[in-house]
Amino acid sequence: MNMSKTISKGMVVGFSYHLKNAQGETLDQSDEPLLYLHGWQNIIPGLEKELEGLVNGDSKNVTVPPEEGYGTYNEALIFQVPKTELPAEAELEVGMEFQTDTPEGRMILYLQEVRDADVILNGNHPLAGETLHFDVTIKSIREATDEEKQHGHVHGPGGHHHH
Ligand SMILES: [Zn+2]
Repeated sequence: MNMSKTISKGMVVGFSYHLKNAQGETLDQSDEPLLYLHGWQNIIPGLEKELEGLVNGDSKNVTVPPEEGYGTYNEALIFQVPKTELPAEAELEVGMEFQTDTPEGRMILYLQEVRDADVILNGNHPLAGETLHFDVTIKSIREATDEEKQHGHVHGPGGHHHH
């Protein structure tokens, strides 16, 4: 293992993290290293830029404002949709995701509320509007393969397998 590598574009980085919101509540955490390809926007921009230059074993507290995280909260992305417009086979559960194609590209909508005749779908990411506080520890750094760079994501254990 080469300990002198620093995080820069084209490196595959593994990190564990503990994510809290502005109130100090835990939103998510992972002790198993999450792998990503640095420089390809695999992770939110506010976190990616703060990890630049770190070396294996480094820990860092990173605060990410909504604009550099999952976006600001947009009321215009909340839709009331008749159940008859949803796929008939869908078993409706709060939190499930629907995909829809818009002129700006594919959009993911979260089912926020189920009513009698309609549902509320929310196009905001569940963490939209949140200022995020990460405690990050770098667990591994290696050079990405040419194939990984072409695909824009990590291969192998811990990476993406959907092609
Ligand atoms: Zn691939």
